Amino acid sequence: MNVLRDVGWVPSLPDQWMRADGQVFAVIEEHEHANAEIPAAIQEQIIRAAWCGASAHYLGAGLEQGVPGLEPYRRCRARFKRQGWHGRAAALDVIVCGGVWIGDRAAVTPEGRQMSNACARCGAATESAFHRYYGCPSLRDLQDEYGDIAGTAWLVQRARDSWDRWPCL
Ligand SMILES: [Zn+2]
Repeated sequence: MNVLRDVGWVPSLPDQWMRADGQVFAVIEEHEHANAEIPAAIQEQIIRAAWCGASAHYLGAGLEQGVPGLEPYRRCRARFKRQGWHGRAAALDVIVCGGVWIGDRAAVTPEGRQMSNACARCGAATESAFHRYYGCPSLRDLQDEYGDIAGTAWLVQRARDSWDRWPCL
């Protein structure tokens, strides 16, 4: 019952639950097959709630809109694993989870000490997440044996246009 409340469902009658939007969803019936859709709906709500919670974390804004498409990440990760590049696969996991300490994020220590937030690749005075992933001119100099960087160059302008609203992308 607490799990259902955590995802916003409220009991309106002993055999009936309402979603957070006020619509009656689950009417619990006696026959077990009549209730089969309820666990799937609960799972969907839990997943949505988890992504909504993730939107409050570093580079998470936009995740409150719904479950992101992670298929490109999964394909890239699987390719890294197949090729034995386990370090690259682990680095990709950290990036997708927003766990990278980029210059402007790491510039102030918990003790308040100011660190350099310059880009280690090109020397720009401030390294933002956008700079790290899309804007750094040194990205052109990286080894791109499979054309991943060149093949996703079209995303740069799109990321620039939507960065304020969708840094999760
Ligand atoms: Zn740079």
